[in-house]
Amino acid sequence: MKKYRLLVTTIIAIGIIIIGTSNPISNLYKSTNLISKGIQQKDDKKQDNKTNEKNFLIYIDPGHQEKGDPNPEPVAPGSSQTKARVSSGATGIATKKPEYVLNLEASTVLKHILEGKGYNVMMTRETHDVNISNAERARLANDKKADMVIRIHADSLDNSGKTGASILIPAKESKYTSNIYDSSSQCAKLVKNQMTNAGINVNGIFERNDLTGFNWSEVPVVLVEMGFLSNYNEDQMMSNPDYQRKLMQSVADGVEEYLRQKN
Ligand SMILES: [Zn+2]
Repeated sequence: MKKYRLLVTTIIAIGIIIIGTSNPISNLYKSTNLISKGIQQKDDKKQDNKTNEKNFLIYIDPGHQEKGDPNPEPVAPGSSQTKARVSSGATGIATKKPEYVLNLEASTVLKHILEGKGYNVMMTRETHDVNISNAERARLANDKKADMVIRIHADSLDNSGKTGASILIPAKESKYTSNIYDSSSQCAKLVKNQMTNAGINVNGIFERNDLTGFNWSEVPVVLVEMGFLSNYNEDQMMSNPDYQRKLMQSVADGVEEYLRQKN
């Protein structure tokens, strides 16, 4: 009996020694270390991407300006058809806020989000008291060979029941914009997906061949109509900083996805 007792005691002692050396706390510490190393490596990768992203230029055009300019300008290079150089835009039915004010507010939010992602960002205007026509805005982005132009607008209709964001892109079947259609369309699709995922009501992507700002563009361009100023609720929503941020975050995420694919 004594022999067995000794054997059992020895086994227990060996067991304690084995458990002791494989100290679970130090093991936990080791794996935590490994995990944080993994995260660190991912962060480093992100950092590398950011360096690449710095080479991309995104031009933001906050639509309209304080005083419209009704003087005509050609709707496309070499076209005899003309339109007003630029209008002052719509006004919010509830907020009474002019569209040019809302557009610059949202554009500034978008600028900060995109800069936070590491991109170069330029704006066609950062104040209201300017006179830059739609063709001139397009040419500013052309001159800088922008990788993407985002035009920020808000809709308005006689029908106050109509709501939702719309995404406008240059027409495929247009001699002025067929060459920028594919890239613009690709970016628009990604922006639309991000908006839908964020729970934003999107009416769709619409081709337009009548917009001066598109026809003069030599670089990909997407116009975001954020919603309807003519709808009481949506007008107020668009001025809500949280909604504005959510909207612009999804635009920025879509642009980021587009540029990543392009890279
Ligand atoms: Zn507008």
